[in-house]
Amino acid sequence: MENASLTAAAPVAPRPVDESMRRLSLHAQIVRHDAAELAAGYTIAQHRLNIAGLIVFCGVAAWVGVHTFSRPIGLLPLVIGLLSGWVLTDFLCGIIHWAGDTWGRTKLPIVGRALVRNFREHHVDPQAITRHGLVQLLGEQAIVAIPVIGLLRLYDPAHDDDVGTTVLVSLYTTLMASVAANLFHRWAHMRHPPLAARVLQRVGILISFKHHARHHCAPHLQRYCIAIGWLNPLLDGIRFWRALEWLVWKMTGAVPREDDLGRTAALTILRSDRQ
Ligand SMILES: [Zn+2]
Ligand SMILES: [Zn+2]
Repeated sequence: MENASLTAAAPVAPRPVDESMRRLSLHAQIVRHDAAELAAGYTIAQHRLNIAGLIVFCGVAAWVGVHTFSRPIGLLPLVIGLLSGWVLTDFLCGIIHWAGDTWGRTKLPIVGRALVRNFREHHVDPQAITRHGLVQLLGEQAIVAIPVIGLLRLYDPAHDDDVGTTVLVSLYTTLMASVAANLFHRWAHMRHPPLAARVLQRVGILISFKHHARHHCAPHLQRYCIAIGWLNPLLDGIRFWRALEWLVWKMTGAVPREDDLGRTAALTILRSDRQ
């Protein structure tokens, strides 16, 4: 009897973790938002606001564009400014996308419905972005960018200040490309984007369908840079996003992706990430 009870109590050697089973059980825990309900959150009032925002943004952007490019600019400041602005755009879009996916809440006043709703809708209905008109696609980014690009007008480096001119070109490029980023993102969801977009995707200047598709594998933990994609291998490789999440979680106790996936799935990812 003693022997039998000892046998029963003997610890069972742990089985090797079956990754696909783990993934299946995680997918079963994910709470999916209702795509139709999210789509209905884009109201006529917001559409009108977006139109007004785009008109104001175009005016301010043209005004600051003249301020930026009407000065004498050497070839080197121009090339470095455009290139660094392009890289900064990739990073800025990555940060905004990660923040929206990870910490955004649709129940937040104003921002929840106007901004976070877009991130939720994009995960449950990725092709909706190809059906949205330009006003819906770019309006909210334009509204957010208006005060920032307006402030850039105050930055007025001397005409012989090459470093200052490079910074000005870089920041202007970043702001303009960031507002257009959702258009680049939309092209990455189209099987047949316009010819110019296809060429830019093929030479690696814009994000491609193949590159972006990985982000859409639930639970959406990688490839947050959605405009260009140059920084994705680096930021995913060094686990930049997981480190940021850990920092925010430690400081605030907030569970990453709780709003996007539901608390159970979000906690499962958090625990498996900490092992
Ligand atoms: Zn996402
Ligand atoms: Zn996408």
